[in-house]
Amino acid sequence: MPNSTDEHGPGQRGVEQYFAVDSSNRPQEYNSLRSATIVYLQKYVQSSGKKLYAILVFAAISVPAGLFFGFTAPWIWNNISYFLPIIFAYVLLLCVISLYRSAGSDPGVLPRNIHIETSESEKKDPGSSNVAPLSVTVNCRQYDEDRPVYLPINYCTVCRIWRPARAIHCRECDSCIDFMDHHCVWLNNCIGVRNYRYFFCLILSLSFLGYLMTSLCFLHVFILKRQKSSTTIAAIRLAPVSFALAVYGIVGSIYPTALSLYHIFLMSRGENTIEFLRSQRVTKLERRRPYDTRNIQRNILYVLCAPKRISYTRSPGIVEAREC
Ligand SMILES: [Zn+2]
Ligand SMILES: [Zn+2]
Repeated sequence: MPNSTDEHGPGQRGVEQYFAVDSSNRPQEYNSLRSATIVYLQKYVQSSGKKLYAILVFAAISVPAGLFFGFTAPWIWNNISYFLPIIFAYVLLLCVISLYRSAGSDPGVLPRNIHIETSESEKKDPGSSNVAPLSVTVNCRQYDEDRPVYLPINYCTVCRIWRPARAIHCRECDSCIDFMDHHCVWLNNCIGVRNYRYFFCLILSLSFLGYLMTSLCFLHVFILKRQKSSTTIAAIRLAPVSFALAVYGIVGSIYPTALSLYHIFLMSRGENTIEFLRSQRVTKLERRRPYDTRNIQRNILYVLCAPKRISYTRSPGIVEAREC
């Protein structure tokens, strides 16, 4: 582990001291605290484990897109319009960038408490001195003032921090994630406060990409059929790749479309996935949505357009240690 004190001078600590990367590609302090976070390419890509399913997702996007550009796009460029393949390329680029940002960026990891108590009682039962349940009462105008909403602020015994109300400890990432929506097994990353907008952009652009590919490939087969005055089967034989891509586009866009609609529904209610699932455990009368502004546009803008929170694990600056 590099000695940041030497690098920044006495009395100063680089942020990288807490998250320095060792030869196993794990941030040192995270490693010692059993976090599952792994960084690649000098912190430019971050993942919660070694199961890089995101590569499979990338292949599921790039292989059919490559076939489209190899077999269908040249014909559409020459016979219909050059504008359509350019639109396809733009949506594809949006997909790939969103995939990279949602799968490889910090979802909103909350730093662990690295100043761990070493008393005997702490060793026996970590967090035992500070685990009393704490709740904060939120004055929520939406509901009856006689029945206020209680937001629990819990102590995480793994990270040893009091985490914010919408933060949850993810077992896969082994970290507390702010505004944790869910842990995505396909991206192998949590979807949280910092990458939710990229995740939503990914599923939305994937849906559009599927529709666009299906439309253009069917158009290819249909126009071939008219030009040759042949049967549908004969036209499919003339452009088998386009027909296969059209079917793939239909099948492949079902899941991202359903997911996009579901997340639009959640955002409009001022909820995330975990909050929605938890609310289903109680009766309708007991359900509360404390983050609902009662304005659908405002709820959606709050999630997608709010200023992006800084990454506590990848701060570009240097912090100065203060003696307390
Ligand atoms: Zn935690
Ligand atoms: Zn996670």
